[in-house]
Amino acid sequence: MHSYTLLIQHAAQVLTLAGGPTDRPLAGPDLAGWTIIEWGYVACVDDKIVAVGPMDELDLARISPETRLIDATGCVVMPGLVECHTHLVFGGNRAHEFERKLRGESYLDILASGGGILSTVRATRAASEAELLENALHHLAGFQAYGVTTVEAKSGYGLDRDTELRLVRVARQAGRQQPVRVVPTFLGAHVVPPEFKAAGPQAYVDFILREVLSDLKGEAAYVDIFCEQGAFPLDVSRYYLEQAHKMGFGLKIHAEQLHDLGGCEMAAALGATSVDHCDYLTPAAARRIAQQTQGQTVAVLLPLVPLFLRQSQYAPGREFIDNGLPVALSTDFNPGSCPSKNLWLALSVACLKMGFTPKEAVAAATLNAAWAIGHAADCGSLAPGKRADLLVLNVGSVAEIPYWLGENPVREVVIGGL
Ligand SMILES: [Zn+2]
Repeated sequence: MHSYTLLIQHAAQVLTLAGGPTDRPLAGPDLAGWTIIEWGYVACVDDKIVAVGPMDELDLARISPETRLIDATGCVVMPGLVECHTHLVFGGNRAHEFERKLRGESYLDILASGGGILSTVRATRAASEAELLENALHHLAGFQAYGVTTVEAKSGYGLDRDTELRLVRVARQAGRQQPVRVVPTFLGAHVVPPEFKAAGPQAYVDFILREVLSDLKGEAAYVDIFCEQGAFPLDVSRYYLEQAHKMGFGLKIHAEQLHDLGGCEMAAALGATSVDHCDYLTPAAARRIAQQTQGQTVAVLLPLVPLFLRQSQYAPGREFIDNGLPVALSTDFNPGSCPSKNLWLALSVACLKMGFTPKEAVAAATLNAAWAIGHAADCGSLAPGKRADLLVLNVGSVAEIPYWLGENPVREVVIGGL
């Protein structure tokens, strides 16, 4: 038996996220049904977790002079956070539009006037690959400081063939240059670019299907589309996802963010891994999705977005959970509707505005978030065989995590055992 290379011990609580079903995301009562070990330890060999348990079951024979010891007395130990919905790579920022929004203009008004996503598209097209990489690395360092150990990164601010492929390339490159793992998603269908304004959404997705997706094989596992007024209508979204699925891509959708167009149900019926935003998804539709997909499709809820857009409608998370729909939480980090990387704040707002309990919120930003990007087999919980991605927090219980509103509770971040 190898001696432990890392031992985190004496934790007030180890939030294992283990003990529930392992063949599907946590749903209903399982979302809060996982095991907390009081006065516990987590042991790793190299980049893998090998043992988790109470201190009185620790195998002292596997501690050697080479074992790195972390004392977690008084602290919570938990899996690294998984950010399952971000727009990591972009040029510029939209502080000027923040001021317009504060004066009363809506998100869709600003988009229709050529601002919003399109203003970031202009800045992103104008940026060099080196600048985009530098920005992405800066943001990844920020995520790491918040305890995020895996980040999904969507393209979507290029909207032409070369820039979209560049954004995926930059995301992958950024993942190789620092410890936080980056999982790219292709969101070429974010909005219709100015070049296709006359030809329309169908012509633009035909272009992507014809000219871009074949070059993304092996570069991005998922394609995503923004199904919304001012972006892509339901029928075009369905066509695009069906075709992408035939080409072997996993599916995601931005839907029911500002209106109920039926995008979530449509995508779930096609086997989408996640349906994201869901602020206008009804509890009845959530129940149908949970039943039709046998609990495999995850609803990714983004509570900082309605907060930042000054919108009163938040996804009815409590009803989703009670109707058996698996839910995850993420920031939606992006320059327009959520310039925050503070996923802890998103957990607090999910408790305050969506009816989550602290335990549910933690599960939604770890194990269920890992399910939402197809990585539940290797991260999101503290169980033997999983990646040694874990956090030591300066709080003593799970309830304290969303309680210290806006604070970063992270004391130590371990990624891949380091
Ligand atoms: Zn998004």
